[in-house]
Amino acid sequence: MTTSEHFSLPDVAVPTLAIAGSTARFPVRRIYCVGRNYADHAREMGASGRELPFFFAKPADAAFSVPEATRGALPYPPGTQDLHHEVELVVALAAGGRDLSIEQAAAAVWGYAIGLDMTRRDLQAAAKKAGRPWETAKAFDYSAPMGPLHPVARVGALSSGVIELRVNDQLRQSGDLADMIWPVPEAIAYLSTLFELQPGDLLFTGTPAGVGAVQVGDRLEARIAGLGVLILQVT
Ligand code: MN
Repeated sequence: MTTSEHFSLPDVAVPTLAIAGSTARFPVRRIYCVGRNYADHAREMGASGRELPFFFAKPADAAFSVPEATRGALPYPPGTQDLHHEVELVVALAAGGRDLSIEQAAAAVWGYAIGLDMTRRDLQAAAKKAGRPWETAKAFDYSAPMGPLHPVARVGALSSGVIELRVNDQLRQSGDLADMIWPVPEAIAYLSTLFELQPGDLLFTGTPAGVGAVQVGDRLEARIAGLGVLILQVT
């Protein structure tokens, strides 16, 4: 893009994420998601074994950034009777490329956030049954709430530690990042064989077992060791 370019519509914003301890924002280019990356969740969804990872995507503007020390109001989406939570480690990339080695993939990580891969499970089940795409189930508005990004320079590379989700103070999901079938660098490396990754890309890295429905009024509290807490109220 050159400075002489101008747009036919004003104010089409680039989605961004809050950064912990900073007023700077992280621009979001694409949101990739890994399916079934924890064995216990793969089993609850009817799979088994170490299959190759599979990916789906959400639009960048599905990102809903909740700053530090605040509570996000998460709108209950239309068109579903079965909105599910999936707590996930989100990885933000500072660098991209194709066919990255595992070492290159690890070095491309800019930071991490707590995220929720919100899912219209009823629409996903219908799509699976009919062999149709997942967009209405996974890629709706506000389907990717995230806490602030924590730079890897500050928190280090995350490969183990508690990941959990409470709904109204009841523990629903609990796992350990070490239980990922495809650890973060391997998942990024494999993804880079399918897409040319770019700075600003995000990867949702899958959810442990215990996914379930939420209702209007519910309070969601997601935690990942080293990343604090993400609190959302479904409205
Ligand atoms: Mn997920």
